Amino acid sequence: MASLGEPKNTIAILNKYHFVFQKKFGQNFLIDTHVLEKIIRAAGITKEDMVIEIGPGIGTMTQYLCESARSVVAVEIDRNLIPILEEDTLRDYDNVTILNEDILKLDLNQLVKEKNEGRPVKIVANLPYYITTPIIMGLFEARVPLENITVMVQREVACRMQAKPGSKDYGALSLAVQYYAEPYIAAYVPQNCFMPRPNVGSAVIRLMLHKTPPVQTGDEQFMFALIHAAFHQRRKTLVNALVNDSETGVDKEAVLRALERAGKPATVRGEALSLEEFAQLADILSL
Ligand code: SAM
Repeated sequence: MASLGEPKNTIAILNKYHFVFQKKFGQNFLIDTHVLEKIIRAAGITKEDMVIEIGPGIGTMTQYLCESARSVVAVEIDRNLIPILEEDTLRDYDNVTILNEDILKLDLNQLVKEKNEGRPVKIVANLPYYITTPIIMGLFEARVPLENITVMVQREVACRMQAKPGSKDYGALSLAVQYYAEPYIAAYVPQNCFMPRPNVGSAVIRLMLHKTPPVQTGDEQFMFALIHAAFHQRRKTLVNALVNDSETGVDKEAVLRALERAGKPATVRGEALSLEEFAQLADILSL
């Protein structure tokens, strides 16, 4: 089948079905075969793998996935795309299941149980940017059995996911992602690789799931409450950010004592603390 990564083939399908792009669904279709190949390579797809694709669009990446994976489940919210996928672009593949669902409402644990006997799957997607964070955090927090997640996201979001302490991009998203996975930016992708062109640059990031968390904490939820408070008011000192936040329930004296025990100055800001140090702080404060 001719690749939809060739712009003329995408245009032909869009015209044939009089497809109208829906801005509210973050529809920017890939039209670059090199980028598509890079995504497949970064995800390390083999004939052993079951892959879930979020938002197949007209099936551009799905075709590559069907060629390289054992089985593919493609979850698309826009019902106008379903006939294009079923009757046309994915018609020749017998290893794909197309679901007309909202990824945020789908029980992926159940899906993986049914389709892959609960064994880890790979997620691949050119994500709708308006829901990047809820999708990724939803996958992590629901403990869906995953090997890796390889996704196209806004360039600045990829940088935030990969950032280390002290850098301007470092924040709650960096810590949340790095608690669950090891990020690696596989490519930066310019606007002209999409139709229509998005207003922002993009990047492909692979998140390789940790088998065990890189830090141990007695109370994961409390650690994340501290992290969110610390970066909610990132210009404040950590002490003031934590004390002024209703979620943490900590008092100033306790935070000052905990920082002293952790060997940190009273004036330290959250952006200077590593994941390990947040875990340590959470454990000291919850004693
Ligand atoms: N994979 C295609 C490609 O690379 O050309 C399309 C990518 S486009 C950036 C995002 C896709 O996600 C669109 O097809 C859009 O309709 C779909 N989408 C948006 N929100 C969704 C949701 N909540 N659940 C499932 N799919 C969604």
